[in-house]
Order: sequence, then structure tokens, then C-alpha cells
Amino acid sequence: MAKWVYTFGDGQAEGASAMRDLLGGKGANLAEMASLGLPVPPGFTITTEVCTYYYAHGRSYPEDLVAQVQAALEHVARLTGRRFGDPRNPLLVSVRSGARASMPGMMDTVLNLGLNDETVNALAKAADPRFAYDSYRRFIQMYGNVVLGVDHHEFEAILEIEREKRGVGQDTDLTAEDWKLVVERYKALVEELLERPFPQDPEDQLWGAIGAVFGSWMNNRAIAYRQLHDIPADWGTAVNVQAMVFGNMGETSATGVAFTRNPATGAKELYGEFLVNAQGEDVVAGIRTPQDLTERARIEAGSEAPSLEAAMPEAFAEFRTIAERLEAHYRDMQDLEFTIERGKLWMLQTRSGKRTAKASLKIAVDMAAEGLITEREAVMRIDAAALDQLLHPTLDPQAARNVVARGLPASPGAATGEIVFTPEEAAARNKDGRAVILVRAETSPEDIHGMIAARGILTSRGGMTSHAAVVARGMGKPCVSGAGSVKIDHRAGTMSIGGRVWREGEVITIDGGTGEVMEGRVAMLQPEMTGEFATLMGWADGVRRLGIRANADTPNDARAAREFGAEGIGLCRTEHMFFESDRIIAVREMILANSTEGRRAALDKILPMQRQDFVELFTIMRGLPVTIRLLDPPLHEFLPKTDEEIGEVAIVMGVDPALLRERAMALTETNPMLGYRGCRLLLTFPEITEMQTRAILEAAAEAARRTGEPVIPEIMVPLIGMRSELDRMKATIDKTAAAVAQDLGQAVEYTVGTMIELPRAALRAQEIAEAADFFSFGTNDLTQTTYGISRDDAASFLGVYQEMGLIEKDPFITLDTEGVGILMRVGANEGRKAKPDLKLGLCGEHGGDPASIKFCEAIGLDYVSCSPYRVPIARLAAAQAALAMNESGAAGPSTA
Ligand code: PEP
Ligand code: MG
Repeated sequence: MAKWVYTFGDGQAEGASAMRDLLGGKGANLAEMASLGLPVPPGFTITTEVCTYYYAHGRSYPEDLVAQVQAALEHVARLTGRRFGDPRNPLLVSVRSGARASMPGMMDTVLNLGLNDETVNALAKAADPRFAYDSYRRFIQMYGNVVLGVDHHEFEAILEIEREKRGVGQDTDLTAEDWKLVVERYKALVEELLERPFPQDPEDQLWGAIGAVFGSWMNNRAIAYRQLHDIPADWGTAVNVQAMVFGNMGETSATGVAFTRNPATGAKELYGEFLVNAQGEDVVAGIRTPQDLTERARIEAGSEAPSLEAAMPEAFAEFRTIAERLEAHYRDMQDLEFTIERGKLWMLQTRSGKRTAKASLKIAVDMAAEGLITEREAVMRIDAAALDQLLHPTLDPQAARNVVARGLPASPGAATGEIVFTPEEAAARNKDGRAVILVRAETSPEDIHGMIAARGILTSRGGMTSHAAVVARGMGKPCVSGAGSVKIDHRAGTMSIGGRVWREGEVITIDGGTGEVMEGRVAMLQPEMTGEFATLMGWADGVRRLGIRANADTPNDARAAREFGAEGIGLCRTEHMFFESDRIIAVREMILANSTEGRRAALDKILPMQRQDFVELFTIMRGLPVTIRLLDPPLHEFLPKTDEEIGEVAIVMGVDPALLRERAMALTETNPMLGYRGCRLLLTFPEITEMQTRAILEAAAEAARRTGEPVIPEIMVPLIGMRSELDRMKATIDKTAAAVAQDLGQAVEYTVGTMIELPRAALRAQEIAEAADFFSFGTNDLTQTTYGISRDDAASFLGVYQEMGLIEKDPFITLDTEGVGILMRVGANEGRKAKPDLKLGLCGEHGGDPASIKFCEAIGLDYVSCSPYRVPIARLAAAQAALAMNESGAAGPSTA
């Protein structure tokens, strides 16, 4: 007989933390905590396999499930001394979802289940009537919403009326009689809307809730979250049924959430919030403003409300001990939920805590120093892509700023953008390439798409653990929460702060590190690569095999590349050097000249400028390898277009503008991306190759003189498809180099390699390698030519394909290992057949993408080259790829 249900409680459990796939994260950890002897309310977990069964069998359950749930309920009854549905001593339960991967706010929860018109009386006798009826109305509201689908606002409206009638602001001011009335109104509402009474039988309630949890696995927000986080739909969720403990049984009861370390900064301090006389959902929903857990945090925040440490010292001390124990047990920072019922502590959840990139670095480095984890584990624990958060600017402390509001520093980083009030508007403006800040009273899972589209999030309500705060931290977006002075008027599409009214589209800046909201744009600063960042990067560098270079064309790029730890330049695109305003006329003159002499004359003007560019670049790089690519852009980009531009060139060349226009027209192409560019252009105008080769080699000699470091430039030829092209190019380069050596009176050293960015080049790599010192995979063009679509046009078609579900990832961002990747593997292997030591690199955008870097490690490339800002991401991703390869035993380049 299959086992569908696992019980836990009273120091024992049938499950364990290793059974996460079967029990979900929450269920597995509840079992583990119970086995550790921690105070966990007894309960049971219905496995994820039941969820899978449920969807595979037309939303029905396995036959023996009912019996197993019955038995588990008996077990809980034995441990608690209460029976489900017993009018004198009723067992009440919570029903919660719990998938393998945590999906905060995505799934539904029902509390206080088992209450009905009878059992509520028992609760009133055991505790007090006010508490009993408050619990009952919470149950009807939650169950009505989650299971029966009654809109949340319908209940809120009734509550609002009752509050107003009695002239009270807080729910805690309502009496037992008030709640009794609310319960009656709630039940009437449900009956009116659903044309049947609110279910009174606890068994019916339970199966309704279980069905709702399984049903919510396929709701839109869960599906959207899974897509965003690559969680497969067939994992399913488990259902956790657990005896209720009450944080709302008066002033000696409380509920809270905590992190064993600060999730924003990583500091080693217990960190969290709680509410007295409240139930769990109250904290997360951000309805009341929570109090600090520790005295230290309370003092730091300048808060008057007592900390848990001061208010309930015994429960706090026990909680602190448990928190430390759980962190040591799991060897990671934990995110905890707890409830105190009349002074007695209960643990409701532990899981790995979400944290900012900054915190994740500090925690990993600290834990390695504490001996809790190894340095390698520290390297593996950081999400390389999330480092991006640290590599972006923060507000310049010197910059003038007009702070208009303050909230909680919920997720660090600064962002500037246009105000929008709805997730739809956020998505629409983002699509137009505009930066937006999403402003909401509080966010809910329905807002996810708007949060993804926004640069930052500002809410007027909610604490550090509100939905907005938790989700923003996970996404690495700046967030300021609970800025109470921000008043949103949805109907008018405005917000007001103090007396000032802000319309949609006006620009604000938020600082999620300080909680400040500022008018307009504020100057930002570049990040610094010190402290834990430098330490972890050092560890990463110690284990990685792939070299990391940067794509850099300007002195500024080159300096940034070095600061970020690049080991050379993998691609210097020389195009921009031709487009600068003082050069473009000479370039046009060269292209439009109708004789070799004419072209040479124009190129002679460009040579000294180009040489100077290279001298600077080589000097900054001080002997590190520099790959300079010969001119590549499509021809048409050089052509003069306006009458004014044609006029300028005509004067310099001393020719008739009409003639010039004709020649320019003749050079126009229908598809420039697949046209007269790269080596095709260079082979027709070999003078360009000669000029660039001379500039490179003379500059190398000059920079070597200046720095005392030898410079051996790597000259790279773009868009090679055939060996004959490379042979011809190389002949021109070698001939020029010989001439330069003669002129300088000294030997010149250089290598000549090629981009592999056309499928033909990859397929014929063996013979091409015979003529090349190195290959660099140009995966931008290789993706374009493999897919047969230009990158610019691809943007719209990929969007459509993604919506249609035909394609998951944008192949221009994450390497398509099954298409472009195959060509790369063939190219690498064929190339190495000709030259076993052939140097292999990659210089497309994929060089900064962790998944693509993993593939480069697998096929044994020597280095990847990416934008300077992504160099640290690439260093870490390369280290992780190397460690993963070692683990899987697949060390060394693939020969498949
Ligand atoms: C490439 O094609 O991948 C490449 C690096 O060249 P570019 O992006 O300049 O075409
Ligand atoms: Mg290219």
C-alpha cells in the first residue's frame, strides 16, 4: 500500500529534511524539527505524490487517502487530547501548502479549521468568547476566500461597517458580541453568494481546504512564479495539516517571523518582527506595524514599542536558543515562524532564508570563517547572477536630494523611475523601455508581473517581512515599504505626500538601503569591490579554470575591466574608433574614394588617431592580453545620409555631391547584417587592414616602451566563413607587420586569430585552425546566423514565441546549447584536431551569463569575455562551473 501521509509531533516524525521532494520544504522541515525535539504542534503532511496523482486523475484522490488522513488525525488527537469535531474539546487545525521550492505568498493557507457553530462555544469556554468568535470569523473569512472563492473585499466591507458603527479603529477594540455579529453577517454573505450554507462539518471543511491547496498549485500566480523561477509544474505541492496554536489568546500570546541573521546586510544578529495577540497572517499582511524582536533592534530603530526580548523574556530566550540550534543544524541562515500561546513557544516553520546579494556574500564568508561551511561551499552558495545587484550604482552620498517621504529599508539598492500605480502600467511602460517605480499601498501575489517590470517598489503599508519586501529582496530590486505618509488615490491616479500631489509618470528616486523617497533623479555612485566581495572573489579565482576577459573599446571600459578583475581584453571592437565626429569624415572619404590612392590618403589621416587609441588601451592593460578585432560594422553605417553629411565629405574630397550621393546609393544593401561587413569589407579594402595592423603594432611597441611590459597583440579577423578568406587576410597582416618591423628597426610580435561566428566556420574549423593562432566564438552572430534572424528583429518574435510557449529562454542571452552550442562544440573539437593547444575563447554577450559559462567550461574553452560590469559574475560562475564539473567527475575538456 502506498504511503501518502506522514505524521510528526512530540519528538518524533515519519519524515525528515532529506525528504523534501516528497514532503515539500515546509513538511520536511517540520518533521526534522519534531525529530530534533523542538516544540512543533503535532500534525501530518500529505505528500506531493498525492498532488501529482490528483492532476493525473482528473482532480481526484487515491482511494486509500481518506483512511490514511483519518489515522493521522487520530494520531494528532492522541498527542493533543483533542478530537476533530468534538463539541466539548475540539481539535482545530491549520492547512498549508508546501512545495519543494519555497513559493512565498503563492499558495493558500487556512487557519482555525474545525470551528463551527458548536465548537466555537467550546473554544469560548476554554479561552474566552471574544477570542473564540474572532477566530471563527477569521476562519470563515479565510476559508470563504481561499476555498469558496468569495472575494476578500466582501468580508472587509462588512468588517469596516461594524468598525464604523462602533467608532473603533482597531480590530482589538471589538468585543465578543461584535465578533459574534460579524460571524453571522459573514455566514449570511457566504450563503447569499453561494446559495448554500457555510460548511459546518469539520470533515467537509478539511477536504475542502486540502482540495483548495492542491487546486492553488495551478492558479495563475503560482504558474507565473514557477515560470519566473524555473520550477517544474510536475513537482506538485504537499499539504500540511497541523494542530492550531494561538498567538491571539491575549497579551501573553504573540506571533512572529525571524531570520537567524540580518537578511538585508548579513550581520550575525537575530532579526525579526512580532505582533502581540495576533495570528501569523497579520504579520505578513502588514496590517499592523510589527514590533522588533530584540532590544538592540528596537533601540536602533528608535521604536517605543517593547521588543519580544523585553516583553516575554523566557519565550524569547528559548526562541533564541532554538534559532541558533537550527542555523547550526542546517548550516545556513534560517527563516523562522513562531507562535507564543499563553507564554508557550511553538515553532511553525524553518527554511533557508531569502537574502539580498550583499547579505548572501557576508553570510557565506562569515560562515566559512566560523567553520560552519567550507570555502568551496561558500563559493557554490552565491547566486552568480544576483551579484549584479552589487555591481550597480548606489546613491552618491554627496549628491543633493530632496527627501519627500521615509519608509522601511526593505530591499537595498537605489532606483530612479516614473511613478506608476498599477502592475499593468508598470509592464506597459517597461515594454517601452521606460524605468518605473511601482507605488502600491501594499503588494500581493497578483502584482508580480508589475514588480518584475519595475526598477523599484514603494509601498505605503507593511513591514520588513511584508509581501513587497520579501519578493523585492528575492528579485534583487530596491524596495521601500511602509512609507505611511504616501497616500495613494487610485481613482485619480495620483499620490500625495504632505500637501504635494504626484501624478503618474513623475520621476522619483528610492533608496532601499535607507528607506528614503526622493523627488526627481539623484546622482549615483559606482560600487566598490572590497570586503566580503573581494574575499569571495579570491576564493572563486582559486578554483576556476576558465580565464575571464572583458569586452572593452575605450580607456574607461579598460579601466573598469581591470577594477572588476578582468584578465585581459577579449574583444576590442574598433568600429567606435571610426565613428567619432572628428574621424567620420575621413572614414567616409576612404569608403567613397574610387581609387586605392584616394583611400590611402584618407586612411593616413586616421592612422595616428587609431594608434593613439591603442597606445592608451595597451598602457592601461599593462601587458595583459588584448584582442583587437579589425573593423566589422556593416558598410552602410559609414555612408553619409543627409545632404549636409554628403556636402561635408564632398568638400573634403573635392567632388560633386551628386556623384557622391550616387556612389553612396550604389553601396546600399538590403540586409546589412548579412552583407558587406567583417572580412568581406576588409578583403575589398585591404588598405584598412594595413592601416589597422600598423596602428596596432606601432602602438604595442610604444606601450611596451612606456610600461616596461611586453605587449603581444592578438589581431582578430571578423566574420570568417572560409579558410581562403583567413589566408588572404593573414597575408596582408604579415606583410604589413614585416614593413612595420623594418620601419621600427625591431622585431614585432603578434598573433592572428579569427572569430567563429558563422556556422560554416564552425563546421570547417579544422582547416581554418591551420591558419589561426586562436578562435573566439562570436555567439551573437552565431546565434543570429543559426536562427536566421537578426538580433534586433528577434526581440519581437521571441516575445511572441515565449508567450506561445514555443521557446523558454532568449537564445541571445542564454546560449542555446542544443543549436549554437553544438556548432561551438564542433568548432572547438575540429579546431583542436588541427592544433591541440589552439586558444579558444568566447566574446558574445553570453560570456556574462552563468548558464552559458557552464557550457563553456564543459567544452573546455580557455576563456570567456564579457562586459566589464559582468566580469565578477563571470568569475564566480566560472568557479561554480569548475566545482560542478569536478563533482560530476567530468573534469577536463569534453572530447565528445
Ligand atoms: C559576436 O558576433 O558575438 C561578436 C562578439 O561580435 P559583434 O557583437 O560585434 O557582432
Ligand atoms: Mg559578430
